[in-house]
Amino acid sequence: MTGFDSLPQAPLQRLELSWLRPFGIELAVLRLDLIDPLISGNKWFKLLEHLRLAQAAGSPGVISLGGAYSNHLHALAAAGKRFGFATAGLLRGHAQDTPTVRDLQAFGMQLHWLGYAGYRARHQADFWHPWQALYPSWHCVPEGGGGPLGAKGCALIVKQARAQLPALGWADYDGWWLAAGTGTTLAGLVQAEAGVHPVFGALAVPKDHGVKVAVEALSGRQGYVLHDASRGGFAKVDAQLQAFIEACEAEAGLPLEPLYTGKALLALCEQVEAGVFAPGTRLIFLHSGGLQGRRGFA
Ligand SMILES: *Cc1c(COP(=O)(O)O)cnc(C)c1O
Repeated sequence: MTGFDSLPQAPLQRLELSWLRPFGIELAVLRLDLIDPLISGNKWFKLLEHLRLAQAAGSPGVISLGGAYSNHLHALAAAGKRFGFATAGLLRGHAQDTPTVRDLQAFGMQLHWLGYAGYRARHQADFWHPWQALYPSWHCVPEGGGGPLGAKGCALIVKQARAQLPALGWADYDGWWLAAGTGTTLAGLVQAEAGVHPVFGALAVPKDHGVKVAVEALSGRQGYVLHDASRGGFAKVDAQLQAFIEACEAEAGLPLEPLYTGKALLALCEQVEAGVFAPGTRLIFLHSGGLQGRRGFA
């Protein structure tokens, strides 16, 4: 288990889009989707501290859970194959054949399908007991790599962006804009910023999913703003969203997927057009990856 803690630098690029120009907003994108062809996006950052802990404890493997399109399980399985540790994945629902699941198998992850009721039990205190019995001494990572350890690794995201500001010709920036699922990545950015720059989170899940409570628990009450961006529910895709994604890709060559990054950028577009940001505002949009998951929607 070596090499997992040298994360590649995500490029910070200027983003020229027609809907920004009339409002004088400058946008740069930190391309976490480009750090690696397989271990993509924010998930490697969220796994970093977990893998350090697993290594320190001499764990033979790492076990976690997710759905049949999970970017988190995909990154974990790819990391296991690359860096030499065993992985097991507990999956929501019944056996399904998706491009993601095929990759998990190819990466050597042991898969267990929990059904829907079985998966809903994941927050219960004794949920992990049988799995810890089956995989003794393996390190368990909560769903999506959430929690304090996940947030901690995301501080590196802020460091990577700041190191590239001079190359962009920016002396400073005015805030972050990113998609929030569990809110762990957002909480990590809030912690790393420590009030220096605000962090704007676009919620990919409905408002009642407890993200606000989770972010408060991880990072306190200040330093961030949450926007509703789920457009009727997680993984709900509408024609306007699809058209927006296609337009951004055609105009700026920026690939987006509809669950997180597409919804987040569309929510930013709506805020910009509503005149929320003053002309001259410089924002960093976090491309949190997830492009492997869009194979399922092609
Ligand atoms: C998992 C994921 C997110 C959400 O990250 P959280 O830390 O759970 O908020 C955002 N974007 C993409 C592409 C993801 O895969």
